[in-house]
Order: sequence, then structure tokens, then C-alpha cells
Amino acid sequence: MMNINHSGILYIVATPIGNLKDITQHAIEILQSVDCIAAEDTRHSQHLLKHLSITTPLISLHEHNEEERAHQLISRLRKGESLALISDAGTPLISDPGYILVSKVKNAHIPVVPIPGPCAAIAALSVAGLPTDRFVFEGFLPAKTKLRHERLEALQSESRTLVFYESPHRILNSLQTMCQVFGPDRSMVLARELTKIFETVRSGTIGEITEWVTQDENQQRGEIIVLVAGIEAISIPENTVFSDKVLNVLLETLPLKQATEIAAKITGERKNDLYHRALQLKK
Ligand code: SAM
Repeated sequence: MMNINHSGILYIVATPIGNLKDITQHAIEILQSVDCIAAEDTRHSQHLLKHLSITTPLISLHEHNEEERAHQLISRLRKGESLALISDAGTPLISDPGYILVSKVKNAHIPVVPIPGPCAAIAALSVAGLPTDRFVFEGFLPAKTKLRHERLEALQSESRTLVFYESPHRILNSLQTMCQVFGPDRSMVLARELTKIFETVRSGTIGEITEWVTQDENQQRGEIIVLVAGIEAISIPENTVFSDKVLNVLLETLPLKQATEIAAKITGERKNDLYHRALQLKK
């Protein structure tokens, strides 16, 4: 055991999302020195620990035993033991177990310390080329088609970049539903197998990516992230903001057709385009 004084602390330790070289030095030191590591799948994590020559005992903590384990782990922390939580890949709690444990440990006034590192959503955002100043992490969409459709509909006018985790057997259905709900022209990025041999990051419209994934079954394999441009990030003509303002003012007092005609004269835009825009604004 290393000489780190950390009794009674729970460490939340990020581990690689593919390439084992992405483990941090700090993560290695903590995993070596704690009394026990709680892991989502102990067999899976044993592989990582073996690679790092770490012999710290493992204990399972997954969605089916988290509540019960949390009580056991809190009593160990109270006795002065130090513990670490890891998941199968990336940052624990991010679409992974750990929320129940962390909230209970914090309620017990026991320190919880992050050991940051890889997270697939952040890695994907960093290379997607979509706006990153504001984004929404949506995790996995619901498994049932109807619920998935509803969730996407609720996000239809979201202006921040949308980040979804996806599984191979649902990717096609999700893309098709996005095509219906967001329309085929919105920009998106599919990021697959990041940091692994078949790493792929492809940008296009939702229509183009859906077509590509449909044609090439290999793109339905592995670990996948879908990023969709928010509604403001769609390329809109420069004049749109001005013409919306004009239309909004005119629509306050004039019927739709007349407002459109006057707006066309003021902005120089096509009457037909403004008419459709006015219909949307009225909604
Ligand atoms: N806790 C993890 C994190 O920090 O990213 C996420 C765990 S979640 C159970 C697994 C999902 O994350 C996958 O279905 C996929 O959407 C995404 N993911 C994980 N590793 C990935 C990778 N190497 N490339 C692309 N997506 C990945």
C-alpha cells in the first residue's frame, strides 16, 4: 500500500473508455492505495487491475445491489477505510451506477473525492465540431419506441448541442426517429469506438448519417455516441433574425398575408419563405 493518508474517503475514479493508456497516474495511485475498490463488473475490472499490476480487493456494486452495498460501504468508511468506485469504462455515475452510493455517502457527511479522467461524452464533444459552449447530456434514450419518440419530440426545439449514448441494436431505430422528429437536414455527428481500433467520427446531416449507417452494418457495431446540433446551430440565413423581428412586429396588428407582403418589401426576402416563417412564428 502506498503512503497516502486518506482514511474514510470515497474516491470516484474514472478509467479508460477503450485505450488502457488513458488511465491517469493519480487514478493508479488511488486504486493501488485504497482498501477496496467497488466495481460495476468485478471480472471486467480485474482485467484493468491486472494490466496495472494492482492487487487491491474488488467488491461488486451494480444497479441491482447498489442500495444494499451503499450501507455496507458507509460502515466501512466510518471505520476509517478508504474506498474507490470505478465502472466498466469512463466516469462512474455517467450512465453508470454510483448515484445512490454517492448521495448516501454525502448525506452521511463522509468526503467524496473525484479522480477525473475519460468520459465518452466529453471525448466525443471535443472532436465533433458542434458547439460546445452549451450542451445537453441525454444519456440513453428510452428503450421503448413510443417513449423514445416522445423524448426526442420534447427536445425538438432545444438550442444546445444534444449528446446521446446509443447501443448497437437501437442505433438505426434512433437515427430513423431523429430523422422524423428533427428532420433530415440538421447537422449531427456519430462517434464510435473512441480510442479503439475502429474509432470513427463522422459528420453529416441526420439524413446522410442515417443512410450511411443503414448501408454499412459495421457502423452499427460497438460503442456509439450521437451528437445532434441544437436548433440555433442549424445554418439559417443571416437575415432570418432581422426578418423574424419584422414579421413579429407586423403580425401583432396585421393579418398573415399582409404582414408577409410588407416584410418582403422591408427585408428583400422571398414572400413565400416569409409566409412559411410567419406561420411558424404564429404557432
Ligand atoms: N461512464 C461512461 C462514460 O464516462 O462515458 C459511459 C458508460 S455507458 C454504460 C456506455 C455508453 O457510453 C456506450 O453505449 C456508448 O454510448 C458510450 N461509450 C462508452 N465508451 C465509448 C467509446 N469508446 N466510444 C464511443 N462511445 C462510448
